[in-house]
Amino acid sequence: MSSRAGRALFVQLVRKYSNASGKDVKHYKLVIAGGGTGGCSVAARACRALGAGKVAVIEPAEYHYYQPMWTLVGAGIKKVDQSAMPMSEVLPKQCDRHKEHVSAFDPDNNTVTLSNGQKISYDYLVIALGIQINLHKVDGLVEALKADPMVCCNYVRDTVEKTYPALQKFQGGTAIFTFPNTPIKCAGAPQKIMYLADEFWRKNGVRDKTEILYNTSLGVIFGVKKYAASLLEVAKKKDIKVNYKRNLVAVDHNKKLATFKLLESESGEEETYKYDFLHVAPPMSAPDTLKNSTSPITDAAGFLDVNKETLQHNKYPNIFGLGDCTSVPTSKTAAAVAGQNKILYRSLKQVMAGQSPDGQYDGYTSCPLITGYHSCILAEFDFDGQPLETFPFNQGKERRSMLHLKRDVMPEMYWRMLLTGRWGGPKPYRKIMHLGMSR
Ligand SMILES: Cc1cc2nc3c(=O)[nH]c(=O)nc-3n(C[C@H](O)[C@H](O)[C@H](O)COP(=O)(O)OP(=O)(O)OC[C@H]3O[C@@H](n4cnc5c(N)ncnc54)[C@H](O)[C@@H]3O)c2cc1C
Repeated sequence: MSSRAGRALFVQLVRKYSNASGKDVKHYKLVIAGGGTGGCSVAARACRALGAGKVAVIEPAEYHYYQPMWTLVGAGIKKVDQSAMPMSEVLPKQCDRHKEHVSAFDPDNNTVTLSNGQKISYDYLVIALGIQINLHKVDGLVEALKADPMVCCNYVRDTVEKTYPALQKFQGGTAIFTFPNTPIKCAGAPQKIMYLADEFWRKNGVRDKTEILYNTSLGVIFGVKKYAASLLEVAKKKDIKVNYKRNLVAVDHNKKLATFKLLESESGEEETYKYDFLHVAPPMSAPDTLKNSTSPITDAAGFLDVNKETLQHNKYPNIFGLGDCTSVPTSKTAAAVAGQNKILYRSLKQVMAGQSPDGQYDGYTSCPLITGYHSCILAEFDFDGQPLETFPFNQGKERRSMLHLKRDVMPEMYWRMLLTGRWGGPKPYRKIMHLGMSR
């Protein structure tokens, strides 16, 4: 090669592996965007197989939170610190951690751009950015959460610790619990805290001075018939009024008013309630990074567009996704991530080996519907809303044992098994429990 050609090749390589800011483009076999439940579980599997230096995780947060514990934090059963671990301790030691946000995806050039301007290139990409909480989409909510001790939200780290003091302070009146008109993670959480509050106030002697309202945007109390029937019984037993097709649009904490849009009203009618206690399940959406992406990686709502059975991207075969940020049409939970991470990793390995992925995620998801300090209904179901129960008894009934499972066993399973990539959901156990006869 002539020295001129050699120089040209050198310049070409420098251009290829540098970006505008002059920083080197780092390359990895696998890049994982997000180090939450999904990102961590896949990183653990991948690092075990690929070894050091091959996997990068891009995750800005200092702490990883076990969010399912926040319902218990709100009810005073656990402390928020028990739900937290430093991110550096839960991510595998063999991965390279980039403590930045992904600010853009460029799937045509197999690169992502980080919030510090650095570009990272990959052979394969896993996207697990979670769902975005949009408190600002309800007028006055941000201010109310700051100023009014009786306005709470278990969905956010910074507000979850307000709920228990508010339960203690409450002296009776109208208590409202909301469910938003958007996709949501853990669709059971908006009502779990309500049942716990009901029991707490009964013990505190204020329940007979209290009206509890569950104002939901949905037309049903829960999306799966079997468990909806059980929950309607619970609500009736506890004297809770369920108001359907109502979406919270504004909170005025000075006047203690909560305004709901009546979703069935053609003229856009609204209804305003005076509240003495308000627990808000806020509007949520796909993360802005995905929603605003100029590449065709999302569905119309901005969620990552993946095949619901293999979790491979529908247009880019070297991209995969799991968890709350995807288009997978199942209830968004950590339990769903358990079912998904094993299948995603299988698909990834198959594609790396030049094969087509053959995974068949069935939509498995679960919601431990806590109905009191000592009772829980363990909902488990698939894409079609058909129960997929692990235990050989009717899980539609309230049980003390299921509360024990939720409170004491599941956190251990999360930290020790799910995040370390050793838990792919209860399918094998379900088969054993049902003597091989269940689905
Ligand atoms: C109050 C509450 C109760 C719940 N109860 C249950 C329950 O009982 N059972 C259950 O199974 N599930 C429950 N969940 C839901 C469960 O926590 C989530 O479904 C699960 O954590 C989703 O995992 P994920 O990896 O998709 O998202 P997450 O675990 O939320 O992780 C997303 C990660 O991406 C990072 N990230 C975001 N944007 C970027 C970016 N641009 N660049 C890089 N990183 C980024 C975030 O920092 C975060 O670490 C509950 C959730 C809440 C809030």
